Formats: sequence, C-alpha cells, structure tokens
Amino acid sequence: MNECLFCKIVRKEIPAALVYEDDHLLAFKDIFPQAPVHLLIIPKAHCENLGDQTPEIAAAAARIPQVAAKLAADHGVQSSGWRLLCNCGQDAGQVVFHLHFHLLGGKHLGGKLCQ
Ligand code: 5GP
Ligand code: ZN
Repeated sequence: MNECLFCKIVRKEIPAALVYEDDHLLAFKDIFPQAPVHLLIIPKAHCENLGDQTPEIAAAAARIPQVAAKLAADHGVQSSGWRLLCNCGQDAGQVVFHLHFHLLGGKHLGGKLCQ
C-alpha cells in the first residue's frame, strides 16, 4: 500500500520513534500522545483493521498482547496499569486505516470505553 502512512513508517520512508521491531510487528510512539505512554503496535503487513485480516496477519496480530505487555513493562506502567485498544472503522473513530493497537498508560485512563 504505497500511500498508507503506517506502511511508509514500516518501510522507514517517514520517521517514527520506534520502540519494538521483529519480523512481523512494529511499535512506535504515537505522534499525538493522549497519555504519558502512548504507543502504537502494528503488523508490518497492511490490512485496514481487524475486519480485514489474512491468516498471516491474524497470526502476527495474535502476538500483539504479548508484545504490549513487554512494552508496558519496558515503559514502567506494568504495575500502575495500562490499556490496549483497537479502533475498527468509522464509528470507532479510526483515522489511520492500517491495523494498529494503542497501548496507553501512565495516568488514570478513566473507566468509560465510550461516551
Ligand atoms: P486511530 O484513531 O486510527 O485509531 O489512531 C491513529 C493514531 O495514529 C492517532 O492516535 C494519531 O495520533 C496517530 N498518528 C497519526 N499520524 C501519525 C504519524 O505520522 N506518526 C505517528 N507516530 N503517529 C501518527
Ligand atoms: Zn498500511
């Protein structure tokens, strides 16, 4: 996907503050953080969201909670608490249509999942 913003980050065509990389996953700091810790974890292969997974992407995405837990520990929020969430589509407020999970922590995140 030549024009996809996160594919460009995967290809290192635009800069991002990378915090994790393996063969199939990449994680980097959100450019507009909504919490002291706000990371994005993505499969390197393009798909729009969880409704658009190939088996290969599903296999990679299945490891995202494990990577998130490692990153939460690395960023000092394992004991204080953190949230992993994925916006799928318009009503969820998805803006970048390359599957990504937000890892948020470092402050009280509130109890509401929707307003
Ligand atoms: P969404 O609403 O699609 O779930 O979230 C997309 C996220 O991507 C937003 O939190 C936004 O701040 C982040 N974002 C948008 N453009 C860039 C960028 O160029 N670099 C980085 N690191 N994050 C971005
Ligand atoms: Zn993409």
